[in-house]
This record gives sequence, structure tokens and C-alpha cells, in this order.
Amino acid sequence: MNNVVLALTRIIQAVSQSNSDSDQVSIIVESICKAMEVDVCSLYMADEHSNMVLVASHGLETTAVGQVTLQPGKGLVGLVVESRHPINVADAQHHPAYRYVAETREESFRSFCGVPLVYSGKVIGVLVVQGRAARLLSDQEEAFLVTLAAQLALLKVSQPLSGGPAALVNLSLKGVQGAPGTGLGQVRLCTSGDLYAVSDRPCDNIETALQEWHQLLAEVRGSIDIERKALQGEVSESIAGIFAAYQMLLADPALTEGVEQGIRNGNWLPGALRQVIQHFSDLFQAIEDPYLKARHEDIHHLGNKLYNAWRGIEEPQTLSQGPVILVGPQVSVSEIAAVPTGTLAGIVCFEGSSLSHTAVLANAMGIPAVMGTGNIKGIQSGQTLIVDGNQSQVILHPSEALLQEFQKLIAEDQQLLEQLKKLRDEPVVTTDGERLRLYTNTGLLADITPGLANGAQGVGLYRTEIPFMVHDSFPSEEEQVQVYREVLNAYAGKPVYMRILDIGGDKPLPYFSVTEENPALGWRGIRFCLDNSPLLMTQVRAMIRAAAGADNLHILLPMVSATAELNAFRELLDDACRQLSGEGVPLHKPKVGIMVEVPAAISQLPFWSEKIDFISIGSNDLSQYLLALDRNNARVSSRYDHIHPAVLHEIRRVVDCAHSLGLPVSLCGEMASDPVAVILLVGMGIRTLSMSAAKLPRIKWLIRTISVGRAKVLAAQALRMDNAAAIRELVRTEILGLGLKALV
Ligand code: PEP
Ligand code: MG
Repeated sequence: MNNVVLALTRIIQAVSQSNSDSDQVSIIVESICKAMEVDVCSLYMADEHSNMVLVASHGLETTAVGQVTLQPGKGLVGLVVESRHPINVADAQHHPAYRYVAETREESFRSFCGVPLVYSGKVIGVLVVQGRAARLLSDQEEAFLVTLAAQLALLKVSQPLSGGPAALVNLSLKGVQGAPGTGLGQVRLCTSGDLYAVSDRPCDNIETALQEWHQLLAEVRGSIDIERKALQGEVSESIAGIFAAYQMLLADPALTEGVEQGIRNGNWLPGALRQVIQHFSDLFQAIEDPYLKARHEDIHHLGNKLYNAWRGIEEPQTLSQGPVILVGPQVSVSEIAAVPTGTLAGIVCFEGSSLSHTAVLANAMGIPAVMGTGNIKGIQSGQTLIVDGNQSQVILHPSEALLQEFQKLIAEDQQLLEQLKKLRDEPVVTTDGERLRLYTNTGLLADITPGLANGAQGVGLYRTEIPFMVHDSFPSEEEQVQVYREVLNAYAGKPVYMRILDIGGDKPLPYFSVTEENPALGWRGIRFCLDNSPLLMTQVRAMIRAAAGADNLHILLPMVSATAELNAFRELLDDACRQLSGEGVPLHKPKVGIMVEVPAAISQLPFWSEKIDFISIGSNDLSQYLLALDRNNARVSSRYDHIHPAVLHEIRRVVDCAHSLGLPVSLCGEMASDPVAVILLVGMGIRTLSMSAAKLPRIKWLIRTISVGRAKVLAAQALRMDNAAAIRELVRTEILGLGLKALV
């Protein structure tokens, strides 16, 4: 145990690069034996009945792997699980908890040290080392094993392994909610971007790496040919031309020899490939011609293709005809856009959480999504997958019976949506006659239609950052005018609340990277806009120009926390109006309001009543900042709940304050589409809600079934409770009692 950190890093790196699960566990146990100079290393993982299954061993009888199952509490392994603590004994056979397992032939080993693997507070496995000599492991060795176990648990090695092949059927992986609904389809892996994350490393064997490189080139040439033939006649000439371009790039000596040179200089193959691909991509990116500039994406794509082939990851050979589930560490907008309309059945991201950009998009499009599942090892393009956005789970290898069950559920869901369509033009009115307004949240052009089709009475939140995100540079004033005009015209006669650029935090711009220690508390929303006033001026001018002739534009300011920010924006707006009227643009000065999402804004509202025309509660950020829970951190996102009593109390404070100041108040975060939250919000006095179009019909159904009187009683009860789970249960029971089971 000379260099503990190095040994640890090597093992973790090897594990994360292995391709299959059996590779993964074999590498773990073998490398630990080597690093710790012990005779045996074994890994036990919990199955669904909490039995500990021996899933890998270096040193014990190989036939025992997959066969030996220790019931809970049995043997020293059981003791590790029960005590949640390392058990380090010099002579295991003399320990009272020792239980001999004949299949492992472990009688020749005396020393034993077992440490638990804990994930999300649960013991999911036990890592054991054993030795022939009777000796206690040193403190340093024990600490090494504990550190390793903590790292392995983080990699969630448990999930694809537990219980052997039989347990793989209907294997359910928990994530966090991205978007509700259920989808079933074939996996399409989104692995783009991986090559750029590869670091340089010394090359173990230069000659072998050179050979590998030439084999890789031949293999990828072959697979591109197959893809081209498969798509012949199905896609347009221009798309087919991409394949020819890839072949040309693959034959280009600058690429082939560049990588060779990198390997000869001592870099390993993926590192050498990354250097060359990045170099060419940068060259193209620097070209002014927009067409040529955009080719850097092709180069990047080709680099990923080579890298994935090297890793043995298969890409789909053809665009599948049936429903597609996009799966990847992250799923980008362009990957979503690449799936033909109507065929996207679900999205699964290993990273991210409910409010990350992909989830917001999925919600807007009505596509079921599960986020933050952790890496799903061994998942392959083409395999069937169920995405259950309602229960925030993904089901791998579904059995025929389960598939049928889900097909039935999906059909019922579609039927419900069909029925709810009839409510489209019905008023949004409670059973005791109170009228509400339901608006839609949008941000994509394609998003206009679902909002209108579902009966939205306006746009409560137009997220302008999405048009900015799908570009590869800041859009010009003219481009913005076109985009905004389309939305304002589509909703003519109805209000449109356009938010100024809210980038930063969880919404980075690909072409304007800002690295911050703590982005959620950093340069985002109005802070970023005011510091980049030319950008803000362009945007405000574009909004006003787009609204010329219509008077439905409302400007919404994100992340406001100080009076100075409001004053600065007011000045800029006056300036924009002066400029535009000087240019002869017909002006209608828009109403201006703020998002209440930074808690500091709440106590300041009375000071701002003369400076703003309305308030919109951004419950996503408001909850995140009140609870000090990063909404994009999958490790803590399960603790995030906007039903938390602290959030409810602050919302009630905002609503009461807005009413006393005579300011219109609405809510546009995810709470607006959570049926439990909606009842409480109505009870607290909210009458305007804005949500993604896909959820609007259900919320309309809910509102037309409840009474304000009853909602007030429930809200008062909830505000006297101290935990979110109990509040949810209270309101859920009410929803079930109203016969709205389909909503919860
Ligand atoms: C919010 O914070 O509630 C909100 C609607 O804004 P976003 O999710 O875009 O930050
Ligand atoms: Mg926000």
C-alpha cells in the first residue's frame, strides 16, 4: 500500500471505463487484491430480498460466484450489513458470527475485513478481503477499503448486478421526475460529447495502439457504409451527403496521421484522437462562413463515433421506425430535435434533475422523462425500455406481461387526454363559481401550437433563453424580432409574459461559458443582463418592436432581489422606448413585472409597488433558495419538494402582500401543474397559473371539479402542518375522494 491515492484512482478509472458489468466487478476485485496484497477480495451485492449475493471474487472458488446467497443477518457479511460498520478480524473462524460456506472453499483463509457499500442511506453491498495469515488489517488498509467502498457505491455498481440474470428482468431504476407520463420504446443512446471529456494518458503499448487505430478506422468506415445503404431513399440527398463527408474526413491524412503522431508521442489512442478532433473542430469554428463553421459539429460527431466504436459502444444502425427513448448522461436539444415528430416516447438522463433544461423541455413537449438515474451500465441502443415519469423510474428488460400492462396504461392515458380535449373551450371555473386563468409556459417555437390546442388563455412565461440556447451565437435583434413576433401574434388578444434572458445557473449558453464556483448564487438572471446591457438593450428593443401593433407584451424580470436592479431596468426600458420612437416604431410601452424567486424579494414588495405592474411567483427557484437545495443536484433532489411548509408559508405571504398592494399575482413554476399544489394555491388565493401545455387539460379538469371553499379549508390545514409528506397525503386523499385518481 505505497500510494493509496494512486491505487484508488486507478481502480475507479478502470471500473468506470469497463464495458460490461461482469468486467466491472472482476476489475474491482482483482485490482483490490493486487493493490492490498491480499489473497481474496469478494463483492456481495443485495438482491431485492436483501440477501447478499456473491457477485464477484478473486481468490474464492469461481463456481461460487452467482451461487452463494447469504440471508440477512447471516455470517460476518450479515454482521457488516447490520452494524453498517467495517468488521475487521484476525481469525474469522473464531468469531461468533462466522458461518462456513462450503461452496467458496474459504477454510484456508483466516483474516477477514468486510466494509459496507452504502447508497442513499441503504446498505447495498459488502466488500470483503481475506488472507491466509491470521492478522488484523492495519488502520490504513481498513481506511483504504472504506474509501473504495464509498466510491463504488457512488458508481451504483449495484443496480445492474444484483441477483444475477434472473433479477435483470423488470429491473427498475429510480431517478427523479423529469416529466410525467409513461413511455415505452427502443433505446437510442445519446453519447455525444464524450470524446471531449477524455484526458491525456500515457500509452501502454505504442505498436498495439497504432494497430488498434487502423482497425478502428476500417471498422467505422464499414459502419458508415452500412448506415448509408440502410437510409438510401429514406432521407434527402443533403442528409445522405453527410455520410460521404464522414468518409472523406476518415480518409484525410491530416486525421489519420495526426492521431498516429499523437500515439507515437506517447498519448493513448483516445487522447490522441481527442487532440486531433478538437484541433480540426476549432479550425472550422473559426471560419466566418456560417455553413463551414457549422461543420465543426460533424467533426465532433465523427470523433465521438470513433471513440464510441473504440469503447465498443454500438450506435443505432438505422433510425428505428417505432417509438424512441433517448438515453444518455445528458440529452441535448439537438438530440431531441433529431427524432422525427411523434416518435419520441421518452427521455432518460443519467444526470440532472427535475428542473434541468432537458426536463423543462420534456415537460413542454409532453414527453415522459426520468432524470438522475446514475449511469446505467450496459444499456444498449435498440433494447426495449419503459420510462415511467409518474413514478420517476425506468424499467429495463421488461417482461411480456409488464409490457402489456404498460401498453394498457399508455392507452388509458391517451384516452383520458382525448376526453379532456372536450374541455378545451370550457371556462376554467370552480364548482363554487370562481374563475381562474390558465396560461402556458413556452420557449420553443414548436411549443406555440400545443398551448393553443390545449386552451391556454395566454403565455404566462415565455423563456427567451431557449431560442438563445439553440443558436450557436447570440441571436441578432432582427432574428429575435421574428421569433418573438410569432409568439405575440399567435396569442393576439391574450397576454404574453416574456422573460428577459435568464441564463446562468442551470441554463448555460453553449457559446458563452461562464465558470463559477456556485452558479446558482452567481451571475444569472437580471444580474447577468444588467452587466451585459448591450445584450439586454437588443433584447428589449426586439421585444418592443415585435409587439408593435399588438398590446399583449408584458416583460418579466428574473432573479430580482434589489431596488437598484429595478431602477436600472426601468432606465434601460425608457431609453429603448426613446430610441425606438426616434426610429419611428409605433410604441406601446409594455407592462413590467418581476418573478418572485429570490426570497429577498418578498419583504421588498411593498417598496416596489410603484415600480412594477405585476408579480409572478417562480416557485422552482423560490423553493430551491428557501430550502437551500440545488435543483440540479441528483444527490439531493429527492429532498426537494415545493410542498414543503416553508415554501407554502412564503407563498401565502407573497399572495397576501400582492393583494394588499393591488398587484396582480400569478405562479409559473412547476407547482402550477402539480395537482396537490394547485389545490393549496387556489386555497391561498392564487387565481392565475402558468404551466407546460401538456399539463393544462388535467389542471383544468381539476379546477372544474374543486371548490374554492374546500381548497381554503385544506390550505389552512396544510399551513398548520410541519412536513411535506403529510400535506401531500392530506390533499391526495381529497383528490381521490373527488374521483380524480388519474391525476395522482
Ligand atoms: C421558476 O424559477 O419557478 C421559473 C419558472 O423559472 P425557471 O424554472 O425558468 O428558472
Ligand atoms: Mg427561475
